[in-house]
Amino acid sequence: MTEAIVVGAGPNGLAAAVTLAQHGLRVTVLEAADEIGGGTRSGEAIVPGLLQDHCSAVHPMAVGSPFLRELDLGRYGLRWRLPDVDCAHPLDGGTAGVLYRSVSDTAAGLGRDGARWRRLFGGPAAAFDTLAEDVMGPLLRVPRHPVRLARFGIPALLPATALARAFATEEARALFGGVAAHAFQPLHHPLSSSIGLGILTAGHRHGWAVAEGGSRAISDALAALLADLGGKIETGVRVRSAADLPPADVTLFDLAPGAVADILGDRLPPRVARAYRRFRHGPGAFKVDFAVEGGVPWSARPARRAGTVHLGGTFAEVAHTEREISAGRMPERPFVLVGQQYLADPQRSVGDVHPVWTYAHVPHGYDGDATEAIIAQIERFAPGFRDRVIGMTTRPTSAFPAHNPNYVGGDILTGAKNIPQLLFGPRLGLDPYTTGLPGHYLCSAATPPGPGAHGMCGHHAARAALAAL
Ligand SMILES: Cc1cc2nc3c(=O)[nH]c(=O)nc-3n(C[C@H](O)[C@H](O)[C@H](O)COP(=O)(O)OP(=O)(O)OC[C@H]3O[C@@H](n4cnc5c(N)ncnc54)[C@H](O)[C@@H]3O)c2cc1C
Repeated sequence: MTEAIVVGAGPNGLAAAVTLAQHGLRVTVLEAADEIGGGTRSGEAIVPGLLQDHCSAVHPMAVGSPFLRELDLGRYGLRWRLPDVDCAHPLDGGTAGVLYRSVSDTAAGLGRDGARWRRLFGGPAAAFDTLAEDVMGPLLRVPRHPVRLARFGIPALLPATALARAFATEEARALFGGVAAHAFQPLHHPLSSSIGLGILTAGHRHGWAVAEGGSRAISDALAALLADLGGKIETGVRVRSAADLPPADVTLFDLAPGAVADILGDRLPPRVARAYRRFRHGPGAFKVDFAVEGGVPWSARPARRAGTVHLGGTFAEVAHTEREISAGRMPERPFVLVGQQYLADPQRSVGDVHPVWTYAHVPHGYDGDATEAIIAQIERFAPGFRDRVIGMTTRPTSAFPAHNPNYVGGDILTGAKNIPQLLFGPRLGLDPYTTGLPGHYLCSAATPPGPGAHGMCGHHAARAALAAL
């Protein structure tokens, strides 16, 4: 029987393992941590019974993932839940840009910009399921649907600052800018619209869903399917060198490229080893989880019903903070993402105490404390928040790599989304998944289509391995 090893049990490692097992390979997954899931781990924190997502929280790309959809993971307990409002971006003065799953409802709330929002997202969102195989794969290949893809792809080439200028109102500009900022890139860079457009388009088709019972339900469902297919997972096994790898016909790494270079050492072709070592990591995250009595008292009412709230003020302010963190400077008022997953999945709360998930965008490797800056940003748009906090836990940027070695310098995207890395992945070439060492593949979020719990990187890498076999 053909043997496969997958190193890392994040969503991509598990997706790769499932794909290989579906094709009859005997698969073993080796995971360094004591539990599986990588960036989809969740657990009780702060108050007994309060459920927090330790990393990823909101999943427009996973719920729209062609691979996860075809697996029908509902059989293994994965249930998606949607908030009333997908995302709100409050502004000083109590107004907000408000994103609904429906393009029409969003457009209706954006006044003069409604028609523009409809033009930008109506067609691509309706075609998302057809486009998903093209959008959620290596960008440099012959697309299956070139005309439809061009309609989506041409705006994606633009800097977010250019696309934002198409909107007349600050609400629409800020709403778009907050989503574009998910790329952790300066918003005046070419292609800086692409990740935001992908998230918005997927979200308008499938919603900004959360997984019932926490994001861990995604990896638990993949692991249960893998077990049914005969695959095995060993936790508490950190692979540090090639000597730690059991013999196998194929080995896939759900790791950052630098870690693969360390493990495979001089077995890798030198040009690949050089590219992996030079792979750029982006700015970091500083995470704070709160237990909040009565929820967050947002001034902008739609934010009280929103699964995600983006805090950063106007588009210009968000663009400024993203430029600052990319230049290694900590802004006084960083861009902050707030998750209120309990609104869609109430079992995460304990009575009237609710889990509120936040992180701030900070410079790569930031060694300061951003807790107060996060609280101040929330207070700015929700006066009285501080008094409702009954407990919190923080994960400083410098602590991210210990939690998960893939998050080098606190870079939760597993790699900077600069132009070459966005287009090619970790090294120049048409196949971002091969390492140049026969039988060895990279399958993490460092490869296209990049971050998220969608499993598409793992699935594509496994398909490359199967094709070679
Ligand atoms: C704070 C935070 C918030 C996020 N928010 C979102 C969000 O809301 N929505 C979204 O879509 N995405 C979000 N993400 C990103 C998302 O979690 C990742 O893109 C996704 O988890 C990547 O999956 P992966 O399988 O490539 O890697 P990971 O999930 O990072 O998994 C890699 C696995 O490999 C293991 N590993 C590492 N080194 C070794 C080794 N040497 N030996 C054995 N095992 C090893 C790790 O322990 C880990 O389990 C967030 C991430 C973080 C950290």
